Amino acid sequence: MSLAISCPVCGSRFYTTIRKHRSHTVIFKDCFLQRCTDCDMVYAAPMPGEKELEQYNAGYFVNAHGQVNMHPLTVAFLSAINLLRVVHVAAFAEQHHIKIDRVLEIGPGGGEFAKHWLRLHPETLLYAGLESDATRHTNLDAIGVTRIEALEKMPTDTNYDLVVISHVLEHTSNPAAFINACTRKLSAGGILFIEVPCNDHEHKELDEPHLLFFDKHPMRVLLEKLGFGDMKLSYHGNTIEKLRNKRSFLERNSSRVRNLLIRKGLLFPFARRQPGLEKMHDALERAVIKPFNAHKEQDKPSWWLRAVTIKK
Ligand SMILES: [Zn+2]
Repeated sequence: MSLAISCPVCGSRFYTTIRKHRSHTVIFKDCFLQRCTDCDMVYAAPMPGEKELEQYNAGYFVNAHGQVNMHPLTVAFLSAINLLRVVHVAAFAEQHHIKIDRVLEIGPGGGEFAKHWLRLHPETLLYAGLESDATRHTNLDAIGVTRIEALEKMPTDTNYDLVVISHVLEHTSNPAAFINACTRKLSAGGILFIEVPCNDHEHKELDEPHLLFFDKHPMRVLLEKLGFGDMKLSYHGNTIEKLRNKRSFLERNSSRVRNLLIRKGLLFPFARRQPGLEKMHDALERAVIKPFNAHKEQDKPSWWLRAVTIKK
């Protein structure tokens, strides 16, 4: 345990304590949630030790989520949300006239983002992935992801045009060092895409397995400090305000009915195409993703926070 508490984003030693970090696993048992008085970052403190975290994350899916859930609706959801991420990043690249030949993804999981990226951009020369969960390797190999064993083992002669860090950063204790290590081989003028949950301590029952709780401002502070510019930060999905009230009787039951209809194959009227879902051709994916509003960019803090930015 490191006892010196400072903001992992801006280094400030000033904070207010929000409450205990809510967890089941012993490595988090002494953690509190702190809010940095300077940049507003919310973080767990004191952070678990690096070695404990590494061991915990190595068995990540077993520790954090019980086991990998491959229910058809989960598969459809993961596929749909990753298609939306791919479309988002590709639109940014196009807008900035950046050609992406080589991609590096940190924590590609089962390859849900990679699959859509490679399908929509078959001209991609290299899609490399660093996945610590060995149970995912067969899937990644089948999709065509070139696996990298460790950041230190990256080929030194390869540079990347895009680095993808989706739902990984919130698990790290030193985000600046982590992003630096991941983007060491990102070319100047290349794109970094990060997605994290936004302030999920405000709407989830457990804080575990997360250590960092981002909003737009601290994300901007962090990325600017690391030499990134031309930043697009955006909120996606249902607003946190709505998520906090989600346990209302009406909504709970209407989503139960919706799930039942989806399971029975009665997709209409949930599968109609909507703005933001134009590229989603699978009716089940449209039906599953729609209630999450992941295709909508929101003005207020929402479930997901995306950052797309260019390395200077
Ligand atoms: Zn701070």
